[in-house]
Amino acid sequence: MDAEATGSAPVAVADVANAEPGQEGRMEHVVIIGAGLGGLRTVEFLRAAGFAGRIGLVGDEPHEPYDRPPLSKQILAGQWPEERAVLHRGGLAELDISVYLGRSALGVERTAVELDDGTRLRYDALVVATGVRPRRLPGQPDHPGWHILRTLEDCRRLRNSISRSRSLLVVGAGFIGAEVAATARTAGLEVTMLEALPTPFARVLGEQMGQLCAQLQTSHGVTVRCGVRLEGFLDTSPDRNGTGHGGIAVRLSDGSIVRADCGVVGVGTVVEGGWLTGLGVGTDGGLLCDATGLVEGTDNVYAVGDIAAWRHPTVGDRPRIEHWTSAAEQAAVVAQRIAGKQITRHADVVPYFWSDQYGLTLQLIGRADLATSVEVLHDPGVIKGTVAGYFADGTLVAVLAFHAPRLLNRYRRLVAAGASTHEVWSTAAELTSR
Ligand SMILES: Cc1cc2nc3c(=O)[nH]c(=O)nc-3n(C[C@H](O)[C@H](O)[C@H](O)COP(=O)(O)OP(=O)(O)OC[C@H]3O[C@@H](n4cnc5c(N)ncnc54)[C@H](O)[C@@H]3O)c2cc1C
Repeated sequence: MDAEATGSAPVAVADVANAEPGQEGRMEHVVIIGAGLGGLRTVEFLRAAGFAGRIGLVGDEPHEPYDRPPLSKQILAGQWPEERAVLHRGGLAELDISVYLGRSALGVERTAVELDDGTRLRYDALVVATGVRPRRLPGQPDHPGWHILRTLEDCRRLRNSISRSRSLLVVGAGFIGAEVAATARTAGLEVTMLEALPTPFARVLGEQMGQLCAQLQTSHGVTVRCGVRLEGFLDTSPDRNGTGHGGIAVRLSDGSIVRADCGVVGVGTVVEGGWLTGLGVGTDGGLLCDATGLVEGTDNVYAVGDIAAWRHPTVGDRPRIEHWTSAAEQAAVVAQRIAGKQITRHADVVPYFWSDQYGLTLQLIGRADLATSVEVLHDPGVIKGTVAGYFADGTLVAVLAFHAPRLLNRYRRLVAAGASTHEVWSTAAELTSR
């Protein structure tokens, strides 16, 4: 599906009346650390907003900015060539920027960043777009059969492993783990998923919808084992199974041992903020920002994407939203702010996330994490077409749809408005009767 086509609707200027004015005329050199989605989109939106100053884009990966969603889907499955994930098809040269690829930012002061080759980049405005790293489990071995998935290199290694394996163990039933499970299962592997909670996805989607996500996996032949903790990684003997490395094995909290040809650990992410110490701001829950991306405690540092915890414009809390659309929306706001333009849309009013598994697209709009109850609004009796509403104190805060994009779009306005339970059920009845 086309992710860009499903982003949140623009919000009227009046809705962002509290936004600080931009630093018009004073910004000459913008440095962006992190050459992923958020970093690249910030560059593009800056140029689109007419910013004519110098821009430096620094990324520790050797590649031009590329898209991550296909890494667990089309590129992992070998359906797309890798080049198709490149984010700026026209080439970075047309953006008239200084690009530092394969370079890490090691330290930062209020007006300059230091890179790992000793280069110092002075800035008037700094944008931090460094994303997150996969969380590792204690004792997780550096072994060719064990994988994580964040970068193109991770994807290449995992794809190679999958192509030589007959079985895969997925530790952690998050969305990335579920997509990897779907891709590997579709390729014919025996797949087992482990989840410490009694129901996978329950923390994010609630019990009932979590069960449905688990059913999507089991109905395609994946073994989903819930309520078991991984107690330890076991040594395996070389070349037991022709993979060249003897496969992988783990011991679980119920005493059982699970073996597979390869494994992937998808147990969430961590923020790596050590290099930001010089700013004097905390990074544990991400970089805390106001509602237009300015990092709290600074006057010229902004954050976008997975590392950023923006103040939500209506709820007032500061969630860190690790969704593709949020990174792009936040980049637009920060670029307008730095360029001194009026901010014409808010980011994250109605966050949007999608996941592709077994030919179905799951879509979530809004903040399911705020919900106190979940109601199934459309129940066709099968997974495809099921739509659930998430409510907090009698108002709609999120909607989840299993491959029902038209229905989902009908609820977007209601989520944005915090519609009442009554209004939501009237809409559901009207849509069902059509
Ligand atoms: C496999 C996978 C599948 C996904 N699928 C979906 C999906 O289906 N739907 C959805 O909504 N979202 C999905 N996402 C999430 C989405 O891709 C992210 O939300 C988005 O990439 C965040 O962009 P970002 O710019 O914050 O971070 P990134 O895209 O991670 O970019 C950050 C960049 O900064 C670099 N960096 C880090 N530290 C430094 C440093 N000190 N110096 C220089 N560079 C540094 C990193 O190496 C990286 O290249 C997926 C993510 C992954 C990994």
